[in-house]
Amino acid sequence: MLALARDAQASEFQLLHKIVTETPQRMHLKSRRPFATHAHELLHTTPADICKAACVKAKWRDQWKSAEPSRLHLYVEDSTDVPGRLLPRKQWTILNRLRTGVGCFGAAMMKWGIVDSARCECGDPLQTVEHILTSCPIYRPPHGERGLIELDHRTLVWLASTELKV
Ligand SMILES: [Zn+2]
Repeated sequence: MLALARDAQASEFQLLHKIVTETPQRMHLKSRRPFATHAHELLHTTPADICKAACVKAKWRDQWKSAEPSRLHLYVEDSTDVPGRLLPRKQWTILNRLRTGVGCFGAAMMKWGIVDSARCECGDPLQTVEHILTSCPIYRPPHGERGLIELDHRTLVWLASTELKV
């Protein structure tokens, strides 16, 4: 029974491969990126001996290296091993909002028209991620941005206990 299923799957794959590689392109197709052409490119650019996950990872790494440098480049080198990924959701969320600089910071909330003031709870007139990481007397992590990169013990304790809501 298992052999039959495997044969059927192999047969389906062979049929798909035959359609993709042998079907002539229709000239009247309006799509700028027809499926068969795209599949052809993939077949020729994907090494035969590489598994799908490794291929995706290699492609991601190439795109990551060629992208404009951003805050995230400080933290992420390998998409499968981002430090802190096993933290509880609340801590992981705060960590990533501080890492990306994208979150409900006062400056962003005012820009989005949700609040009237960008003021931080410490009294600073402009709550940004830079303010939180460098000078906020209430919410600054114990080792600032370096702690968010290294995720040292004190930073992990801070993440578990902070009242920061961003
Ligand atoms: Zn503050």
